[in-house]
Amino acid sequence: MWRSRTNRGRKTVVCIACGTSVLRGEAREYDKEGDRWNRQGKQFEHLCKECYRGLCHQPRTELESLLVDIEADGLHRTEFLKRYVEAVEERYGSAEETERER
Ligand SMILES: [Zn+2]
Repeated sequence: MWRSRTNRGRKTVVCIACGTSVLRGEAREYDKEGDRWNRQGKQFEHLCKECYRGLCHQPRTELESLLVDIEADGLHRTEFLKRYVEAVEERYGSAEETERER
């Protein structure tokens, strides 16, 4: 217990965006899955405050489930991207069609 108390706040982490070392207590957690509240079995990456500010905070729940839907073992990248485009068009409509409607 003594040891952890001594180290509290002094541990440094590296910002994944700019590579600066910042104190753990000064850093912001970054979860690539976009769900910071579900901490189970996860290892968080870190951002300095400066980079965190420039981050997009839109939830990515739909993107994750979409990727899981089209993912398959041994799927070739080209096929994966083709499926991705198809899935996005199916769910959100084609980008070209949206352009034409305007
Ligand atoms: Zn940074």
